[in-house]
Formats: sequence, C-alpha cells, structure tokens
Amino acid sequence: MRIEAALAIDLGGTELRAALVDRDGKILAFAAVPTQAQAGPNVVIGQIEALAATVHAEAPGLAIVGVGVGAPGPLDPLAGIAVGPPTLAGWQDVPLADILERRLGLPVRLENDANAAALGEWRFGAGHGARSLVFVTVSTGIGGGVVADGRILHGRRGLAAEIGHMTITNEGERCVCGVVGCFEAIASGTALGRRANAATSPLDGSTLRRLSANAEVTGRHVVEAARLQDDLAVALLEEEARWLGVGFTNLLHLYSPDVLVVGGGIANGLDLMAPVIEATIRLRAMRAYRDVPVVQAQLGRHAGLVGAASLVLFDDGSLAARMPVGPSTFPDTRRDFNG
Ligand SMILES: [Zn+2]
Repeated sequence: MRIEAALAIDLGGTELRAALVDRDGKILAFAAVPTQAQAGPNVVIGQIEALAATVHAEAPGLAIVGVGVGAPGPLDPLAGIAVGPPTLAGWQDVPLADILERRLGLPVRLENDANAAALGEWRFGAGHGARSLVFVTVSTGIGGGVVADGRILHGRRGLAAEIGHMTITNEGERCVCGVVGCFEAIASGTALGRRANAATSPLDGSTLRRLSANAEVTGRHVVEAARLQDDLAVALLEEEARWLGVGFTNLLHLYSPDVLVVGGGIANGLDLMAPVIEATIRLRAMRAYRDVPVVQAQLGRHAGLVGAASLVLFDDGSLAARMPVGPSTFPDTRRDFNG
C-alpha cells in the first residue's frame, strides 16, 4: 500500500517552502526558494507549482491526499482567499485555494500561517495530546494561534487570536498597527532589541555591543549575553519576561489552554525567562488559571509546514464545506448606499 502524505506549502514573505509530510508529521521531502514577493500572485503561484514538482520528484510513489497552505493573513480560511497580505505585493482577494486546486488537481486548504504553526505544535510538537493550546511566536513581531477544544479558533473572517495587538499598556513605542501599548510593540524581539540599543552605544565595550560587532543589538544578542551572565542583558531579559508574563496571563484568562507553547527566536531564551514569567503569572492570574505549563515550541521553522499538512491529513469536515468563491466576498457597502 502506498504511503499517504500531504503536500504542505509555507508561503512566507521572504521564503516559499514546500514539503511532503506523512501522517506522523514526518517530512519526506523538502524544498525552498526565495519568494518573488514583489512579482504578484501569478509568478508566486508558478513558484508553488514548480516547488510541488520538485518535492514530488524527491519522494515519488506517495499517495498525496491534498494540499495544505499556510500563508500570511489576513486571509479567509473558509473561502480559501488571500485577502491582502501586506508582505506580498498585488495580492488582493486572490482565490488561492481554487486556483491551486485547478493547477494541482488536489483538494486545497488555506490557513493563516500562525494558525498553521499552532496546529503543527498541537498535532506533532510541544502541545501533543492537549485538548486546548495557545501558541505564541515571539520574534520580529508577536503572533499566535489558538486550538480550542480540539480545533483551530477562527472567529469572524478567520481573524481570531491576533494576540500581538492586545493592548497591555498605555505607554511605549507606537506599534506597526498605529497605536500605543500593543503586546507586540512592547514584548517582541524587536522591542527587546530596541531597549538593548537604547541602553548601550557602539564601542562602549558592553557584552551586547561585542556580540553584535558594534552594530545594531537584536533580541537574540540579549538572550546570548544573558547566558553569559551579563548583568545588563539579564536585567533586559527580566523586563522582557515580565511583559511576556502579562500577555500570557491575558491569554490564560481568555482561552484557558492546557498548555501555552512559545516559539520564535526569543523562545530560545525561555528557560532563562521562565522564573520571571511564572512569577508574573502567579501574581496576576486568578488562582484557577495559574498552573498551566508554559513550554518551548518543538518544531522550529517546520511547525507551519506540518500544521498545513495536518489540515488535509486530518480533515475535520470543513474541507467539503469550503464555500464557492463569489465575485464580491467583501461587498463595497458604499455602492449599496448609492443604489
Ligand atoms: Zn498593534
């Protein structure tokens, strides 16, 4: 009998990756190319077809049951439409699932990339066996996904769990979304790096500037320096851990997961931050919410790929329910007013 596998696509703004993934979450073939993000959807869809051919050639003879695509939001997972990801030029309301179904001759499921990573960690990674999970990725920004009672939480238009833009303070740098106080603006790797840069200057002899070769200090440098017991880096990471603890407390109160899984570059310092994160949660969370494990993600950069594969390998019935694409998914209400 042929082995069943899914074709998984991770459509990133900088890298386009494809894999064939079996039911155990094992990657049987893998290929990646730089995304031609400025070239428009037709060129990128051509890249997806070419990558699909590459991985098929690498692992022939599999029974491919379908295609799971993780792509940047906003997107409509039910209709399979990329609504307008800011990292991909010219993608306005592209019916990506329909197009790929025609081109590849297989059923296609589309999911927000953070949700896909949440699914991957839930099926095959740090959240395996949990009924509910919150996945948080802390890197350039903060993103995440929620698995509630065994399925991904979508909300209206698939936009639920935009946790990077929870308001958790009323001060600090303005967020990319335009307002002050977002979780992402205060606790992302970018924010941590910004505080480290403000606390040091090039050629000041600090460990942070030595690690960055006197260039811009990043969040990763702070984690690295804290491992060397550098006092400043330890203090910066403690402040970071307090903010993460505040955000995580909100997530525990909102979603009551069995486990909170942390991924992204800054998760490499989770062991160092754990005592302060836990102390912050103890201080702020109501008693019933305090004993939830906060653990590091296990699948690294492959979480999104195996999660996308799981969309078709473990179909929950919504594939058949995918709605046909109409000409006006998001009607222009002004036209309605003008008759
Ligand atoms: Zn924001």
